Amino acid sequence: MNAPLTRSPLSSLESLCLGSRYGRLPGAFHTRLPPSPLPSPHLVAFSEEAAALIGLDPQEATRPEFVEVFAGNRLLAGAEPLAAVYGGHQFGSWSGRLGDGRAHLLGDIDTPQGRLDLQLKGAGPTPYSRFADGRAVLRSSLREFLCSEAMAALGVPTTRALCVIGSPLPVQREQTETAAVLTRIAPSFVRFGTFEYFADKEDVASLRTLADHVIDQFRPQLRDTVRPFESLLADVAQRTGELIAHWQAVGFMHGVMNTDNMSILGLTLDYGPFAFMDAFDAGRICNHSDTYGRYAFRAQPRIANWNLYVLADALGPLIGHPDLTRTLVDAAFQPAFDAQFSLLMRRRLGLVQAHPGDEDFVGATLGLLQLQRVDYTNFFRTLCELPGTVEREQRAVRDAALRDLFADREACDAWLIGWRARLAREGSVDARRQPAMRAANPRYVLRNWMAESAIRRAREGDFGEVHALLDCLRRPFDERPEHARFAAPPPDWASALTVSCSS
Ligand code: AMP
Ligand code: MG
Repeated sequence: MNAPLTRSPLSSLESLCLGSRYGRLPGAFHTRLPPSPLPSPHLVAFSEEAAALIGLDPQEATRPEFVEVFAGNRLLAGAEPLAAVYGGHQFGSWSGRLGDGRAHLLGDIDTPQGRLDLQLKGAGPTPYSRFADGRAVLRSSLREFLCSEAMAALGVPTTRALCVIGSPLPVQREQTETAAVLTRIAPSFVRFGTFEYFADKEDVASLRTLADHVIDQFRPQLRDTVRPFESLLADVAQRTGELIAHWQAVGFMHGVMNTDNMSILGLTLDYGPFAFMDAFDAGRICNHSDTYGRYAFRAQPRIANWNLYVLADALGPLIGHPDLTRTLVDAAFQPAFDAQFSLLMRRRLGLVQAHPGDEDFVGATLGLLQLQRVDYTNFFRTLCELPGTVEREQRAVRDAALRDLFADREACDAWLIGWRARLAREGSVDARRQPAMRAANPRYVLRNWMAESAIRRAREGDFGEVHALLDCLRRPFDERPEHARFAAPPPDWASALTVSCSS
């Protein structure tokens, strides 16, 4: 007899019941307040994969009640909305109290993977809004929505995005735009800056409460270590190292790596003026407001390390002497980054084994891409299709697709000789290597021009391109003829695109 199917039933909106574990923390951690109503809301975009995380039936997105709930106009059962307090170092300087100026944590949902927080972004002002309006515009909400889901599909740790709800409500930025509310999902939105806030106030009791909360809710295995707070710092440093290795390997730039945008769980958090690398340039600065390139692509590992030192200092009162806390970061961050980056780059190059000299080979590869300004994503994807061995007189034909990406084709030929020698060293077999490479080298990434053209259409009320992009980016490794236009290098108009912190 067949075993009965054990598929957990999908939930309706009404059967989602939220808990409030962050709300149970003392009053110093948050302010309770409802979202502000959003006029004439409508559904712009919805992620089935994100809905599946919370067991929500995707059919629910077609109901008017869905729009009302995720606009912030109606509360789910058990919701006790709140804005969390945090601080942060912005562009290297302490900014004091920041906090959720435009985010409302609705509560948390029990899932097979543990409890997940549900948060509205752009649902109106909070006590932490300072002089801002508490709103988010459609443009930035769609960028965060698409990139969250794209990163998850690429295998990069990230917060998730359930949906974007639009509204005709005008919002003033450089120009007048319209409002939107984004729903985010993550185990937690606690930031390095949450710890900094209490450390700055010298409120050691709250600092301890926060560290205990993170350990008990998300890292219970650390409770059994000799010094749990030290283990927590080491854990954050290790996960952050792995996260940044993912960013560097996939060619992602965050753009605003302030400590208030750094997740305590090592997730990509707070998508703003991010970008994916087009023509490779390690010095690329994607944030128009980042005058000195603090958050340039090549600076990301160093900045993450700096941010971890700030976190280490904040945890000082729980751990001990600052030198000790920074030593914990040193022991965990760089080794985790190096190991993960090597692994990911080997995969991108089709290498299974680790050999001495691989770091140099990766370095030389990036150096070549830099010199030749080759499109980063297309270089690796094109490489997947090249044979591991080829007769000298066949090279021009068999290697044409890759050579065509280079202005200096001989530089490409010379690099290919080194690559093939390295493949030979581990007895690489094309039939195994090529599918593995295609699963490690995306055909599609969310380039700024793609987001921009989908946003332009969405502003005119046509969400088709947003849906097409999401459909493409949720399976970034698959060859999809219907999405071929998204694999093209940036069009000429894209070079004029600038993205700033304004959102
Ligand atoms: P961000 O640069 O988006 O990471 O935001 C930095 C800080 O500014 C956070 O405390 C945000 O909540 C706050 N913030 C950004 N934009 C707004 C806004 N439109 N309204 C209220 N607070 C905002
Ligand atoms: Mg932020």
